[in-house]
Amino acid sequence: MYLDKFKLTGKVAVVTGAGRGIGLATVEALAEAGATVVLTDMNQDLLTVSTVALHDKGFNVDSEQLDVTDVAGVQAVHDAIIARHGQVDILVNNAGIAISNHPAETMADEVWNKVIDVNLNGLFWCCRAFGRSMLERGSGSIVNIGSMSGFIVNRPQEQANYNASKAAVHHLTRSLAAEWGARGVRVNAVAPTYIDTEMNKYVYQDPDMYRHWVGGTPMDRLGRPDEVASVILFLASDASSLMTGSIVLADGGYVCW
Ligand code: NDP
Repeated sequence: MYLDKFKLTGKVAVVTGAGRGIGLATVEALAEAGATVVLTDMNQDLLTVSTVALHDKGFNVDSEQLDVTDVAGVQAVHDAIIARHGQVDILVNNAGIAISNHPAETMADEVWNKVIDVNLNGLFWCCRAFGRSMLERGSGSIVNIGSMSGFIVNRPQEQANYNASKAAVHHLTRSLAAEWGARGVRVNAVAPTYIDTEMNKYVYQDPDMYRHWVGGTPMDRLGRPDEVASVILFLASDASSLMTGSIVLADGGYVCW
């Protein structure tokens, strides 16, 4: 009975920013649990390579190019997926960017706006478009990717734009959970620590930064994409049926200190 709750057989899931990193691991986790998964990413080359690789592994996958900041594009991709698959049961809002090492007092307008536009506005456009059709069906599970940066201020890098965007994602998650809870749509978030993805590769060239990141983590290491994907699988599935509005830390203990 309990393991069955993790199964996603017959469900359709959509993952944004799915071409690589945490998004790609999430596609594999959801597909392994039995879902048909639609990968979306703004990078078409990455999307093609990743979709073909997962298809060759035997997973039921499909893809659509999507820049989440394109509000009309979000609705168009939603409509295309519904036309092809009939429904969307799970939405994972993973697309996100960091533009770090910009002190607040000299941060350029475009550096602030770009991060807010992808991480917050884009995530909201997706919640709104997909949430609407989930509400019509009276069922759905949305998982947003927040960050421990929505709880703490990272150091030594200055990134007020990113930290503010992720704190906003957490509170947007609670707001939507409250609005949609009685109508069958759950909305939760995962808040990861530093994960070893392309986004963070620069840390290997900066021993001081690496020392801060790993030294500040009780588990004494970076996380892996699959360790976030398994939490996302839990939140997407009926195994978390009583949870909505939760922000689940997957942080190796980082916020303990
Ligand atoms: P990656 O940079 O490895 O992958 C992100 C993917 O999203 C890329 O394929 C990227 O495409 C795509 N993307 C970027 N902008 C857009 C957009 N506007 N529309 C659609 N797709 C887009 O990131 P991670 O896997 O590391 O991060 C995934 C999520 O997890 C993000 O929301 C991030 O903030 C969050 N997170 C990451 C942590 C980490 O330490 N890595 C820690 C905490 C949270 P392209 O290749 O073209 O840039």
